[in-house]
Amino acid sequence: MKRFLKKLKSLFKAKRFLCDSCKYDYRGACSRPEKPNAIECPDYKKR
Ligand code: SF4
Repeated sequence: MKRFLKKLKSLFKAKRFLCDSCKYDYRGACSRPEKPNAIECPDYKKR
């Protein structure tokens, strides 16, 4: 059961976009074309 929950959690996490929690997710801070739906981003910084 514990393992199942862990798996579920990681699946949920994987679906979220990086920009949602990125420090640069505001106007002018990021000009990447993948914004706001980046799944992978070399510039990502956690807020
Ligand atoms: S730096 Fe990357 S993750 Fe952050 S807002 Fe821009 S595109 Fe999104």
